[in-house]
Amino acid sequence: MEATENNILRGGQFLIKETDCEAIFTPEDFTEEQLMMKDAVTEFIDREVWPNKAQFEAKDYALTESCMQKASEMGFLGVSVPEEYGGMGMGFVSTMLVCDFISGATGSFSTAFGAHTGIGTMPITLYGTEEQKQKYVPKLASGEWFGSYCLTEPSAGSDANSGKTKAVLSEDGKFYKITGQKMWISNAGFCSLMIVFARIKDDKYITGFIVEYDPENPNGITLGEEEHKLGIRASSTRQVFFNDTIVPIENMLSTRGNGFKIAMNALNVGRIKLAAACLDAQRRTISVSVKYANERVQFKTPISSFGAIRQKIAEMATNCWVGESASYRAAKNIEDRITLRKNNGKDSHSEAELKGVEEYAIECSILKVVVSEHTQNCTDEGIQIFGGMGFSEETPIESAWRDARIARIYEGTNEINRMLSIGMLIKKAMKGHLDLLTPATAVANELTSIPPFETPDYSALLSEEKNIIKNLKKLFLMIAGAALQKYGEKIEEHQQLMLAASDILIQIYLAESAILRAEKLAQKSGEDAVKEQIAMAKLNLFHAIDVIETAGKHTIISISKGDEQHMMLMGLKRYIKYVNMPNIIELRNIIADKIIKENKYCF
Ligand SMILES: Cc1cc2nc3c(=O)[nH]c(=O)nc-3n(C[C@H](O)[C@H](O)[C@H](O)COP(=O)(O)OP(=O)(O)OC[C@H]3O[C@@H](n4cnc5c(N)ncnc54)[C@H](O)[C@@H]3O)c2cc1C
Repeated sequence: MEATENNILRGGQFLIKETDCEAIFTPEDFTEEQLMMKDAVTEFIDREVWPNKAQFEAKDYALTESCMQKASEMGFLGVSVPEEYGGMGMGFVSTMLVCDFISGATGSFSTAFGAHTGIGTMPITLYGTEEQKQKYVPKLASGEWFGSYCLTEPSAGSDANSGKTKAVLSEDGKFYKITGQKMWISNAGFCSLMIVFARIKDDKYITGFIVEYDPENPNGITLGEEEHKLGIRASSTRQVFFNDTIVPIENMLSTRGNGFKIAMNALNVGRIKLAAACLDAQRRTISVSVKYANERVQFKTPISSFGAIRQKIAEMATNCWVGESASYRAAKNIEDRITLRKNNGKDSHSEAELKGVEEYAIECSILKVVVSEHTQNCTDEGIQIFGGMGFSEETPIESAWRDARIARIYEGTNEINRMLSIGMLIKKAMKGHLDLLTPATAVANELTSIPPFETPDYSALLSEEKNIIKNLKKLFLMIAGAALQKYGEKIEEHQQLMLAASDILIQIYLAESAILRAEKLAQKSGEDAVKEQIAMAKLNLFHAIDVIETAGKHTIISISKGDEQHMMLMGLKRYIKYVNMPNIIELRNIIADKIIKENKYCF
């Protein structure tokens, strides 16, 4: 279906609109070109990265750099760079796909790739002047230079705009001198270009600069030693010290004081790409775990026959498939929005990209949080399937578990992203970009009316699940509406409510994406051919309701009393209600049977 202004959802609108399954993009819609790209990337990783996992774990930083060189020879570093600057100029979905399949073997390479192609390159492609783009982007796209992104400081982490690094204009007005300390800088050990954020005088907001780095001529830049980290061990992470580093004025990125905006927008893209980067690690973890479970015999039985192990396999696969469904759904929305903006003739390429992604900043935060948590759980359960062997460095699962941990911390911690998702939703509503009030009022009216007595006809596939999703959206509006009414704009000070609301929001987005994907697949291939996918969508919804019920209850009992509380608890019960409860064990068995038979993740 071609995207038009009328049929493409705006960011956050999934909460108040119903979506037709035909309107969502799914991985089954990849084009021939995208499938070829996926194969090329997978073949590259299987050849260059996966067999060398032990070396990455032994902190072989040079190997990470040489893999980056090899990736550049394949053109992978330039997939999202426009052709006029030496890249492939691929659409957003394709760039997500590359990020996804390039990231599964080790977090070390994945982080180097993400830091270079994302936050190390994108600020220039999105905010650079034509001269800056011509000068730097072809070098970054070709891998002649590698990039890094220097935002975090010892006293400025989540509070990114509080950095103390200074940029002082020279007397002749020709250059800035940058002085300060940055920490946790990925790719610092082998980069030639740094995107550096510093404050000019007492400006409210920081400013971005492009800083060249040549160890032979360091220009006041020194690097700390490599950090010794829990995971992503061969990803170079160092402190960077600037001491009167001279930066020509033409290397300022965008305008003075616009650095915080650049930093945040770069992170929006980074967040959804990080979600993608957590997907293939799950697929690979599931595949190695099921292979092990099929081979490992205890009590004269392959452990994959035990219900306890089958449950894990089914749940791991479900999370992976659901996260993938939501990630590519959002990626296509972003791509369509960028295309629409470009076609309207008003935006330049970079403006269209920027605004296209910014529109879906809520979804980007949602995905960053949930997929990073999925990958953590997946690798954890993977270790459990391996038993004692899972604890050994000899198995790939041990490093996958350690590598997964960072995804919950960088690109904005999951706490920050949870609160951002709700904060942005409220801002959108207040600016009039998202009408939450009308549906929230309708929900309030519905709650005071008598519920219908007749049982709806749920004979059509997934019709009950779709109705539940509709109800879950009402539940969110009921709870968030009540919290907003109570606290107004001060809601942001009530973090535990924000976190609970974001848990509900996250579950709704994921559950809807999965149900719509399963429905679309069933319409195309028939119910029987996709029974495992239908089972995953149903199983996920069941769990989503559990999470939502808990978060909803916590919120209701914390913000209301007496009759109001009673009414909202009744509403909670009403909106999470199943007529036909799914048989959870049967669903898990359908999913596990298939994966165990195929001996790998196979969806
Ligand atoms: C391996 C690695 C690579 C990295 N790469 C880069 C890079 O390339 N470039 C770069 O600039 N940075 C990088 N970072 C930094 C990373 O982005 C920060 O670590 C992250 O943003 C968190 O900041 P912090 O570590 O200072 O934690 P803090 O901000 O001190 O947070 C500590 C805890 O407090 C919570 N918290 C903080 N503020 C709030 C709040 N307002 N409300 C509620 N909870 C809050 C956090 O969620 C967290 O749980 C990297 C970090 C690591 C570990």
